Amino acid sequence: MKEKVIKVELVPGSWSSTPQMVQKTGSWRTLKPVVDMEKCVGCGVCDSFCPEAAINMVERKAVINYDYCKGCGVCANECPQEAIEMIPEVGGK
Ligand code: SF4
Ligand code: SF4
Repeated sequence: MKEKVIKVELVPGSWSSTPQMVQKTGSWRTLKPVVDMEKCVGCGVCDSFCPEAAINMVERKAVINYDYCKGCGVCANECPQEAIEMIPEVGGK
């Protein structure tokens, strides 16, 4: 069987070799998710969908790590309880 050779050209800036949880993405944020703890039922859906792994479930409540949250809003869109509101970022954290 003939070996297949695949060549991949990487364009500078199109990839990162830095592991996700080492690269802080919080400075990218213009909107910030805020969890209403009264509405949060601890289902973990937001945690599952967050592309930055910036949500931790603590005592069955969603807690956001703003060092890694880039403000994409996926968590707010996916929360079945509408417990997450995206608010404008005001001067950092
Ligand atoms: S998806 Fe909503 S209800 Fe579920 S853990 Fe996250 S914030 Fe709480
Ligand atoms: S806004 Fe995006 S990055 Fe931030 S916690 Fe929600 S899903 Fe994760």
